Amino acid sequence: MDKKVRVRFAPSPTGGLHLGGVRTVLYNYLYARQHGGDFVLRIEDTDQNRYVEGAEQYIYDCLKWCRLIPDESPLKGGPYAPYRQSERKHLYYQYAQQLVDAGHAYYAFDTPEELERMRADLKTDENPNPQYGHATRGRMRNSLSLSREEVMQLLEKQTPYVIRIKMPENETVRFTDMIRGEVHFDTNQVDDKVLLKADGMPTYHLAVVVDDRLMQISHAFRGEEWLSSAPVHILLWKYLGWLDEMPQWAHLPLILKPDGHGKLSKRDGERLGFPVFAMNWTDPRTNESAQGFRERGFLPEAFINMLAVLGWNDGTEQEIFSLDEMVSKFSIERIHKGGAKFDFEKAKWYNHQYLQRKTGAELAELAMPYIMAHTATPTPEYLAKVCELIKERCTLLPDFWEQGHFFFETPEIKELDTIKQKWDENKKAFFQNWISMLESLPSWDHLSIENSFNEAIQAAGLKKGDIMLPLRIMLVGGKYGPGVFLIAEMIGKEDTVQRVNHAISLF
Ligand code: GLU
Repeated sequence: MDKKVRVRFAPSPTGGLHLGGVRTVLYNYLYARQHGGDFVLRIEDTDQNRYVEGAEQYIYDCLKWCRLIPDESPLKGGPYAPYRQSERKHLYYQYAQQLVDAGHAYYAFDTPEELERMRADLKTDENPNPQYGHATRGRMRNSLSLSREEVMQLLEKQTPYVIRIKMPENETVRFTDMIRGEVHFDTNQVDDKVLLKADGMPTYHLAVVVDDRLMQISHAFRGEEWLSSAPVHILLWKYLGWLDEMPQWAHLPLILKPDGHGKLSKRDGERLGFPVFAMNWTDPRTNESAQGFRERGFLPEAFINMLAVLGWNDGTEQEIFSLDEMVSKFSIERIHKGGAKFDFEKAKWYNHQYLQRKTGAELAELAMPYIMAHTATPTPEYLAKVCELIKERCTLLPDFWEQGHFFFETPEIKELDTIKQKWDENKKAFFQNWISMLESLPSWDHLSIENSFNEAIQAAGLKKGDIMLPLRIMLVGGKYGPGVFLIAEMIGKEDTVQRVNHAISLF
């Protein structure tokens, strides 16, 4: 019988969640849902030096905002708890010891100074970064180079040591990646990674393998940056005797800078003016902050859709997928091998598309905080009508204020000059006459307002085209906005008359 699908997202809580990380979450989530499996969140916090206060909570908040809630996690618990590696410290030692006993790992007693010396001594132009591995381990202080007695003595004296994997020489490690097909590595190129540190904490390499096994993970999807670590992990699966339980691997392609040169970084976002993290993140150590997609005004469903197709498609031209559709159509095999260029304009296009699919009432709820930041709280009904009128002009949530502020405040007339250039007594007389007609209008709706406008134009012998723009500028302050008579209807008779009168008084 096939193993139950169990996938995991295994972040280290070291900072903001990059959009590549969210995409990894998404692909894991989709795969789990599609196969009726479990999606596990495991916090990989064994590197205490890189631990950042608040980063774990931030991960939960991001997943919540994206509505990609794990089935098992440190917060939620689950049958394989604990899900935070620092709380599983006691589990790892026995496996490191098992590897030492079987000759696949060894104790290394080298001090930081000795390591430094080795690197300095062996450094050449061809090899600027000498590794601790098959070529060098013989000259270092470890249980391979020292006699049994020496090792016993060092251990008795409680000399600090780490446990390193003994990479075999001249072997090829092969595995099949669900995206890349067969991948192979020459073991001579890989160093003897530390598995257990002097403080008894495992490193990522040991912990990831032990936990994937203990948590019965069936598929391990992670970023391409981990591909170079795969040979170490595969060998650990083998040396621990678990090869037939090893998860299937898929290394997800990188998300690239817009120009396609290299991995998209936080710095690129700062340089080019777009977010790279899911939500705002402030590093508590440096106080440096970075804007998130959420705070920029993205809807989580648009963000997720944009990420899904950054590296995957369903084989058709379709671009908009609901979460349910993604669950049914997603397949790891259709993920591209090559990196996917990030395109912020496309991200905004997605958000625009998703805004158009929402009702006025839904948009009112989303836009309310952005309106309230500038003005007294409108009624939800009024805001809903405004949102309906302007949504096609809005791409990000703050646009609801930019595109609709004149529905809530008397705008400053920024385009005064445009009116002034063509202003004359005829126009002035027209506006004066028209607003007096408005006073006696029986019904205040855009059709009646437009009819009276047309009548007044005819009576004055003017061209409608010459008057519409000044009227818009009087009501809006600029040359934008939805239908001008709809605006008049919404802001009401009093404000319409007052704005026109005020504008006239400026000439
Ligand atoms: N802890 C690793 C990270 O921070 C996870 C890599 C993996 O999924 O194996 O991304």
